[in-house]
Amino acid sequence: MHKYCCDKIETSLGDKTIKIKYFPVFRQYVIKHKDNYASRTIQFCPWCGSKFPKSLAKEWSDELEKIGFDDLLDENIPDEFKNDSWWKNRKCYV
Ligand SMILES: [Zn+2]
Repeated sequence: MHKYCCDKIETSLGDKTIKIKYFPVFRQYVIKHKDNYASRTIQFCPWCGSKFPKSLAKEWSDELEKIGFDDLLDENIPDEFKNDSWWKNRKCYV
């Protein structure tokens, strides 16, 4: 199984001159603005047109709240929530 929808997006994500980024922890694709701080979530691959999987940014904070983390910047959040393990470990998200 390919990690991404097409080779072009994979190449783009490795190319610093292209301002598209993927955040595995949120399963979220974004376009960065010039300043690199503001960004906008994108729903479709700009190269092949495939719809990206749904972003899990909200689910990430919901799951953390369920286990008692109100401060999402807390350093003690479980390791699985620092990468894509948390949603890969939960069948409802894959
Ligand atoms: Zn694609």
